[in-house]
Amino acid sequence: MQKSIERIAGDSEGVFYEFPVFRFEGADKAASSAYLQAALHAGELPGVVAIDALMPMLEKAKAEDRIKGDITIVPQANPIGRAQYHFGEHQGRFHLGTRTNFNRGFPLLAAPDPTLLPDATFGTADQRLKTRLLQLSIGHDIVLDLHCDDEGLAYLYVHTSLWPTMADCAAAMSVDAVILWGEDTDGTFEGASITPYLNVAAEVARFDRRVVTTVEYRGILDVDGALAGADAEGLYRLLVARGVVLDQALSTPGSFNGFVAPLENVDMMPAPRAGAVLYDVKPGDRVAKGALLATIVHAPGEAGGRTEVLAPQAGIILTRRSRRIIRAGEDLLKLVGDRKSADARSGTLED
Ligand SMILES: [Zn+2]
Repeated sequence: MQKSIERIAGDSEGVFYEFPVFRFEGADKAASSAYLQAALHAGELPGVVAIDALMPMLEKAKAEDRIKGDITIVPQANPIGRAQYHFGEHQGRFHLGTRTNFNRGFPLLAAPDPTLLPDATFGTADQRLKTRLLQLSIGHDIVLDLHCDDEGLAYLYVHTSLWPTMADCAAAMSVDAVILWGEDTDGTFEGASITPYLNVAAEVARFDRRVVTTVEYRGILDVDGALAGADAEGLYRLLVARGVVLDQALSTPGSFNGFVAPLENVDMMPAPRAGAVLYDVKPGDRVAKGALLATIVHAPGEAGGRTEVLAPQAGIILTRRSRRIIRAGEDLLKLVGDRKSADARSGTLED
């Protein structure tokens, strides 16, 4: 395993950001290669600790000459967001200098050709970081971007072109759900990783062996040794299933038992009032149309001071907020409905 340090210059004198990159060289150039990164939203750590638990497994495989495909790992992809504290609170989702989401604004290339990337010395520090991360990942058959939600199930975002061929990956990772999407106009890392392959010849796109996904490892507080170990096992099973690592002790993944739904079925449930949220459901709950999802206490102690929020359709609760304070219009939860949401939003992942 080789370790190298990436350096991104800051936007002012004397400021630099660094992050390590780990590389395992595969023994078989025909084998699938893999790129894993975590904490692009810098405060989302379940994927970071999963990678920490995965590394010894890969080191063992390397010592036993079982690494077949090249593997590149960036355990903490966003040193800029990592350093952002605002009045004592960590802010790792948006770049404070530009107000841009760290998982938006990646260049959407027309083909998987690194020479099409913007000059990595141009733009603000967050843009240069994005260009560099894409440069590091492009060309790998498997690209995994490890995130987490607020409170939630373990689930994947997958482009429709890769489903159901990626069902073995979802099964290997033992996630609860897969959300399928078809259009990215905002430049998520996942969008930038699959878009170059959408309009090229089938023998270049190789959708049969390509894996691109945003992994949502449950909630932001689910940073836990046992979960990290289980997630590392899931990542390892995926790498074995796709021939990146050889391990004859593992059987091929069975069928995927979680649920699969298009992104347009997700109801985000904006809060009708500001106040304190009392949830009546938790991630994983199945609800009927009209079921009570949450009560917002907006005028404590007053008659009529509570507003109930009901399910607009039947479905499964995918996520909810980790904080119980809410403004009017902020999203309360993600309900994956059985049908298209009346509130279906354009774009891909939420801001
Ligand atoms: Zn995220």
